Amino acid sequence: MAEEHTPLTVALTQLKLASKKLGLDSGMHKMLSQPKRSIIVSIDIRMDNGSVGVYNGMRVQHWDARGPFKGGIRYYPNITLDEVTALAMLMTWKCAIANIPFGGAKGGVCVDSKKLSKHELERLTRRYVSLIVDYLGPHRDIPAPDMYTDAQTMAWIMDTYSQLKGYSIPESVTGKPVEIGGSWGRTEATGRGVIHCVKQAAENNGLKLKNAAVAIQGFGNVGYHAAVAAQEIGCIVVAVSDSTGGIYCPDGLTPKDVLAHKEKTLSVQNYKGCRNVTNEELLELQCDVLIPAALENQITCKNADKIKAKMVAEAANGPTTPEADKVLFEKEICLIPDILANSGGVTVSYFEWVQNLTREQWPLEKVNRKLENKMTTAFNDVVALAEKEESDMRTGALMLGVGRVANAIKVLGLWP
Ligand code: NAD
Repeated sequence: MAEEHTPLTVALTQLKLASKKLGLDSGMHKMLSQPKRSIIVSIDIRMDNGSVGVYNGMRVQHWDARGPFKGGIRYYPNITLDEVTALAMLMTWKCAIANIPFGGAKGGVCVDSKKLSKHELERLTRRYVSLIVDYLGPHRDIPAPDMYTDAQTMAWIMDTYSQLKGYSIPESVTGKPVEIGGSWGRTEATGRGVIHCVKQAAENNGLKLKNAAVAIQGFGNVGYHAAVAAQEIGCIVVAVSDSTGGIYCPDGLTPKDVLAHKEKTLSVQNYKGCRNVTNEELLELQCDVLIPAALENQITCKNADKIKAKMVAEAANGPTTPEADKVLFEKEICLIPDILANSGGVTVSYFEWVQNLTREQWPLEKVNRKLENKMTTAFNDVVALAEKEESDMRTGALMLGVGRVANAIKVLGLWP
């Protein structure tokens, strides 16, 4: 396959491989290749200057055989239905690997959120929810944050959904602020979960994490909290980046200070004591652990052979192309695949949903302990299957996720 692919062609290639290895029949493979529902909406809003803004929105619901659809909402200027469909499919496998009772979905709005005011973003979010409200719900489809959406966006979603239904329904969305039923630890969960996987993989591979150099592409929610968690376990964060570029300091940087600098200057670049690097350079830096935590298709056949890290932990969704996968495997670089590495977010989203349904709020220690248990179990399940199949971890993870969903569909049967 040439390296000209979209997120969906990558996801379908992965599914084909897993289906073949699992011996799924062609009917099951066809069913899993298609989302159950794709919704496209036109979101018309009043801009602050009185004009009308029109934005394309979508929500793709892939499969719900193991429980309600679940998945983030991404605001991004170039987002396509193809990308959202691929991400919805990945969510289905991810929830199955984490062994939580959800299916997979994803939402997207084509918007450059940085160009909208807070009021415009609120109107956009509420209008989007009102257009898809019949397909959402705590037992139907539960949104969560993703790129360029956050706890505030989730609060608007909860309020819009609740207003339209006539009563307060916190369990309709996860990743909310704690004040309205959000879980302690949800914001940090994806980044922390990535580092739990790094810890497990380091143990398995004999890599010492004390003073290990970590480079992180993307310094948003996931990248920042992965940086903090990496530092907590004794790693040295040597490089981070955002959409404006990156910074490198072999002696290590302090994530909290870099965040303060970014909040002040809107960029991580030009941070004291660091050398500015491009996002491309960051990936090829001398380090032990590389964590892509921004966009898809970052490690490709063009740069895979230049990666110097001993381990790549995919915090972002789909950062490595299939060709690059092969190169990393041949170079014996340990790759922790996205559907395992970044499953901490949806795992704590599940905890949040459970807390909302039972009207409880668990302490942070309990959330973090349960997260670590879940991540460790998922990691060990994937490694056990990969070893049995003599495959890489991505294949092991896909086989575990796809296999669990296929088994659920078989047990449910086709009706009518
Ligand atoms: P975010 O919006 O908080 O941060 C995204 C970061 O990526 C920002 O620092 C941004 O500047 C940077 N970025 C954007 N374009 C870039 C580019 N061209 N090069 C380098 N950096 C760039 O988003 P997030 O929630 O941290 O999500 C990051 C990734 O993690 C996404 O792939 C998302 O799907 C995935 N993910 C997120 C969660 C979650 O809980 N938030 C869960 C699972 C997976």
